[in-house]
Amino acid sequence: IDFIYQPIMNASGHVSGILVEGNNVTERVLANRSLQEQDKLKDEFLAMLAHELRNPLAPIRNVSEILINMEQRDPKLKNIGDILARQVRHMTHLMDDLLDVSRISQNLINLQLEPTDFSDIVSLTIESLQSALDAKHHTLELVVTPEALYVNGDSTRLVQSLSNVLNNAIKYTPDGGHITLECVADTDTVQVIISDNGCGICPSMQGKVFELFAQVQQTLDRSQGGLGIGLNIVQRLVQMHGGTISVSSQGLGHGSCFTITLPRISAPKNTAVEAAFAL
Ligand code: ADP
Repeated sequence: IDFIYQPIMNASGHVSGILVEGNNVTERVLANRSLQEQDKLKDEFLAMLAHELRNPLAPIRNVSEILINMEQRDPKLKNIGDILARQVRHMTHLMDDLLDVSRISQNLINLQLEPTDFSDIVSLTIESLQSALDAKHHTLELVVTPEALYVNGDSTRLVQSLSNVLNNAIKYTPDGGHITLECVADTDTVQVIISDNGCGICPSMQGKVFELFAQVQQTLDRSQGGLGIGLNIVQRLVQMHGGTISVSSQGLGHGSCFTITLPRISAPKNTAVEAAFAL
């Protein structure tokens, strides 16, 4: 029981008694504990659901490949195979995101941190999204500083983070858009700035896009699908690297700009020597 003591003053300002108020906190503690338990159950359920939904995707992917390879017999089969493959990729991505959310909540993600050349992260990110960029006829302007930029990072998770932001820029920009990926650095930080001239984000929603299940376009247009968890994962992964992510936009219809800032480390010794010999 929590006791609260309050002095009772008389008219002349002297303490004439003490009011003791007792609160039984047992219920509150129990309620909190069961909330934590409920949270844990929810995470475990989410992980199980994602696993169960992910498993049947492998045979469907195999069928899509068989159909694609049957192009010579009937070109229509390849079209069906392509559609199937695209949908399987989309579902796999959603399931992976769901698994990541639950793993992050349960502290089950171990980063494999090592000195990482940031230009490799940028190249791998662009490579993985080149076909999506082409499909929407976007132009990508790449602005990178020639100096070596190194971070202490998990390259898979960094590529995942940048890909997510770049993929959003592709998704939320009408066909034929202009996307810029810029890398800048000072002595302590590396910044990657991904901006687009797409649908933009209204000022009141800019603080919310990193929240779980946040979807700005919810009331306007849900044609882009998604669960509203990608940016939450990116924020948590970037924070696990000691970095930050922020967004700015001049408002709806005026494009968006996402900035990821990571701590910079100096280039590993052998790389610095190799670079000197290359000169
Ligand atoms: P989703 O899977 O819905 O894209 P995200 O967490 O990646 O989820 O993004 C959350 C929301 O932020 C999106 O639903 C979208 O409304 C908004 N958003 C993200 N990136 C952009 C962007 N480049 N332009 C406009 N809106 C964006």
